[in-house]
Amino acid sequence: MKYISTRGDQTPRRFCEILLEGLAPDGGLYLPVSYPVIDAAKLARWRGLSYAELAFEILSLYIDDIPPLDLKALVDRTYTAEVFGTAAITPLTALEPGLCLEGLSNGPTLAFKDMAMQLLGNLFEYELGRRGEQLNILGATSGDTGSAAEYAMRGKKGVRVFMLSPHGRMSPFQQAQMFSLQDENIHNLAVEGVFDDAQDIVKAVSNDLEFKRAYRIGTVNSINWARLLAQVVYYFAGYFQATKSNDEQVSFTVPSGNFGNVCAGHVARQMGLPVKHLVVATNENNVLEEFFRTGTYRVRASSETYETSSPSMDISKASNFERFICDLVGRDGARTKALFHDAIVGEGAFTLTAEEFARVAGYGFQAGRSTHADRLATIRATFEGQGVLIDTHTADGVKVARELCEDGVPMIVLETALPAKFEGTIAEALGSEVKAPRPAALADLESRPKRFQVVPADTQVVKQYIRDHVPL
Ligand SMILES: *Cc1c(COP(=O)(O)O)cnc(C)c1O
Repeated sequence: MKYISTRGDQTPRRFCEILLEGLAPDGGLYLPVSYPVIDAAKLARWRGLSYAELAFEILSLYIDDIPPLDLKALVDRTYTAEVFGTAAITPLTALEPGLCLEGLSNGPTLAFKDMAMQLLGNLFEYELGRRGEQLNILGATSGDTGSAAEYAMRGKKGVRVFMLSPHGRMSPFQQAQMFSLQDENIHNLAVEGVFDDAQDIVKAVSNDLEFKRAYRIGTVNSINWARLLAQVVYYFAGYFQATKSNDEQVSFTVPSGNFGNVCAGHVARQMGLPVKHLVVATNENNVLEEFFRTGTYRVRASSETYETSSPSMDISKASNFERFICDLVGRDGARTKALFHDAIVGEGAFTLTAEEFARVAGYGFQAGRSTHADRLATIRATFEGQGVLIDTHTADGVKVARELCEDGVPMIVLETALPAKFEGTIAEALGSEVKAPRPAALADLESRPKRFQVVPADTQVVKQYIRDHVPL
């Protein structure tokens, strides 16, 4: 399998060449030249597989530059009951007739990003070891991504993580989760400022190409193709659990921000998984919901980006969306570039032609939006009605799924985090007597010793910290 850019660069690259990269050199995102289509015989065979076996089959279709035995060992090490809590890895929970949850948040940081990041940690260690290289991952986080990256990379040979977070602005749980890691290769930098200050420092360091090269700075952001690929697996796993035969169809509802999770659903559907609808559920930051309703994709200014109670979906633009648009316009790199580069840089928005927009329905997408009040009501109704406690992001999904559910088509809502991460909003919905259960291993999390460094919001200080901790 070869990979090309969404913006027209047709240079064929192999999986391990793009594994450690972010954007393609022309500013686009990497896509496989084509999606392998799974025939009926293969789909029938896959139904009986364990999660790790299924992951190996799917990854093998896209990765041909890691020897199969090595890839198999790596996948088997990643998707274990020890790391993800159950043998099913992504178990289904029935909510009501026709509606169930697929649990994606039983990994170490209690959010779905572990599903991909845990694999990425093992892939990075493998590829860096093979090349005899090192990589220093620099990122900014307001919560989920940073902790998922740290838990994936902790103790990995050849990798260091420098994670910037806004000092004193994460929830006590999130802060403890990251700062309690004692691994030598994990560096928590608490920036005296807000998330945007941390993000600006990351951008400034990455724009210093000489520094970036000298200190081998890399990222693990959601546009990484390997992350997206890892996510394709649980659409298949969810389908097999929700159906008895491959003649049946299901729909998925996906709580969405950057379009990363649901883009993996799009890939699974293109591979022939019998998916009727892919329902995109947004919060008040409805960039995607607006697009699927109107055909206009409008990036928001920071003044128009709201802080909500489903914070991991508070986005101003959807970084992975370009992959779907590229498919929608028939892989026309010039058109994709015109839409994303010229339009976004020029006007902050683009509108598809009527003919292009008409094609969207053929990809199965639907969309809906949920607000803080909806979230609270949904958490309450689901707890009181079904006895199931869900987190705020999953609640956005359940709210929209209930509106768009169809008779005869099971609807699978992807559960993207555990409620234990969002105790404040859970208490607001249910009263402070109801405590979200926490995995036993995390009972004492907040009282563990913390390891972090407070730094001013100053790029030079962060660069100096990296110089002091990376041997040249
Ligand atoms: C990251 C995240 C999302 C959004 O996922 P995208 O891939 O950005 O659409 C939703 N819920 C939770 C809990 C997350 O951490």
